[in-house]
Amino acid sequence: MNRKIKALCAGCLSLMLLLSGCGGKGTGDQNASAVKPVEDYVSHKVNATLHQVSVTESPRPFVVNGASDYKLIVAEGAANETAADYTQRYVERVTGCRLEYAEASQFDTGGKFIVFNDADLFKKAGLTMPAVDLDSTGYYIKTSGDNVFLMTQQDFGARYAVIAFLKHVLGMQVYGQDTFVYTKDGTTLPDMEITEKPDIGNILLGNWRDTFSADALYLMGYSDYKTQFLSIQNQDNHTSLLYLPVETYYQEHPAWFSAQKDQLCYTAGGDAEELDAMTSEAARVMLENIMANPNIHAGQFTMADTWTSCQCQACNDSAKQYGTRSAAVIQFTNMLSRKIQSGLQKYADENGTEKRDFTLYLMAYHKFVEPPVVKNSDGTYTPNDPSLVCDEDVGVIYAPIEAKYIHNFYEQENVDSAEMMKAWSTLSSKMYYWLYQTNYAGYLYPFDSWDSDVENLRFCYENKVDIVMIQGQHNMACSTGFTSLKVYTDSLAAMDLSLSYQDMVNDFFQNYYGAAAAPMQQYFEELQSWMRYLEQAYPVEYTGDIYNLLVGENYWPREMLLHWQDLIDQAYEALNEGKNTDPNYEIYMNHVKMESIFLRYELITSHSGIYSAEQILQMKQSFKADCIALGITHEYEQRELTEVYRDWGIS
Ligand SMILES: [Zn+2]
Repeated sequence: MNRKIKALCAGCLSLMLLLSGCGGKGTGDQNASAVKPVEDYVSHKVNATLHQVSVTESPRPFVVNGASDYKLIVAEGAANETAADYTQRYVERVTGCRLEYAEASQFDTGGKFIVFNDADLFKKAGLTMPAVDLDSTGYYIKTSGDNVFLMTQQDFGARYAVIAFLKHVLGMQVYGQDTFVYTKDGTTLPDMEITEKPDIGNILLGNWRDTFSADALYLMGYSDYKTQFLSIQNQDNHTSLLYLPVETYYQEHPAWFSAQKDQLCYTAGGDAEELDAMTSEAARVMLENIMANPNIHAGQFTMADTWTSCQCQACNDSAKQYGTRSAAVIQFTNMLSRKIQSGLQKYADENGTEKRDFTLYLMAYHKFVEPPVVKNSDGTYTPNDPSLVCDEDVGVIYAPIEAKYIHNFYEQENVDSAEMMKAWSTLSSKMYYWLYQTNYAGYLYPFDSWDSDVENLRFCYENKVDIVMIQGQHNMACSTGFTSLKVYTDSLAAMDLSLSYQDMVNDFFQNYYGAAAAPMQQYFEELQSWMRYLEQAYPVEYTGDIYNLLVGENYWPREMLLHWQDLIDQAYEALNEGKNTDPNYEIYMNHVKMESIFLRYELITSHSGIYSAEQILQMKQSFKADCIALGITHEYEQRELTEVYRDWGIS
């Protein structure tokens, strides 16, 4: 069933619920049968990627009665050491046993060691790496006798190896930063042979970035955004004018800047000598920064964040010749990258080290968003000139901010953005897709991108994704609108794009809400169905872009809100039965409370007429107290809730 028909069915059923007068306190059970959840999700599953997992349970003892014969042996390197540290800490958390470290010299093929990336010991055990390219993020886990080896080819793989090890030995799954679930007790160590590589090995967290715990980030497979890109003056985006500031260079080199001095002139006014000097100086400054940050392997030399571009004769000629202003940016960035690469090679030669990898990113955005390509009759793209193909070490950041994220990139509504992604990915094999998953005009409203997020990751994979971020509510610590579900499914889907969205959703509700799973999943499914109905009922008003806000009775009828509030109350009741026995009681209660925030906000702001002044005041005060306790701080991206409380007279 295509999505439109499916949405209509769900909508009809939702409408039935309203017209039949259901809803409100105490009628939750009747409503449960009235709304049919969205079931037939659009799916472009990515299969046949590298997920060879053979795990067989074994009686081999691992930790018994808090003690273990196993010791950790770790090859040199920060990634290996971090991986071993996580293994040690999480085995201890579950079993109470802190595994000791051992020296490589203590290794014995008949012993009990967990070995991190020691190629010599691996060889000594008579093992060889699988004949596949594990790239920077893949790993190989192999039991040999009682020993276990966690092997990788490059740094990023160590983290994914640990995630897999803890999954298969402890049954660990991380559903959120406060929700770590273990289905095994670590008494035994299974036989394992796993050759695996995450489908997207570099996904950045889009929500709650400043407060998310380092452990959850690592164990959910999110990259640490703080170490992804070089920064200059605490900024990693829009850096070109920070590396080449107007104040420092304009007087001597006016040709480097646009007439308004708000962007670079990427052709240096058509003067080859000036262009050479400009790229040399940019390379010199960037190399200083690169050398000062030895663990960072990517950086941006990216346009200023304005809707402008240089309009000099040479820039205009280039745009005319190649069809777009991005052509000059690509040629400039290739030139800059070659100088940086040769600087890195020189350093390696002088110091007898290996040349460091470094990817330089440009940004396809605003005036520079159109790629210099022609579309062929078979739907593929060809560069307008060989000089417009990005070097191997040059990546492209593309942020389709105009896309309708309630739809995915396979759908007609996003055909322009999808074509742009295809086109850019013919010019660079290192695409950084910066997508979106929230409503920037209203953080407190749900945004129907739960399943399209997962589909979009699949689309990115099919278009040479190197890095992806689905930006959401980055500047809060917690969000309503089932954002936590997205944080979970996005991380899991990136690792394995063949996973079923519906299975992930079911698993999430069971584990994130404990005894409150049933009413919370019912609320989620009805909410999602309702939003699909809104697409059909209000095709003009509901565009689904990231600033499109629907507020008020037409979109959120009071009866519907009260019915959902009733499901929230049922969730609290279910949890209260375990108040004195469930160690996760407080955590689950907070998860339910997070999802009450949207309902309460909409009732207060759009339906206040049904309440007495005293009731409204009380509702506002408890809303404020809960938001503060949960860490929900913003009404929308640029407005803090403190301003709302002031407007409400409760600051
Ligand atoms: Zn120019």
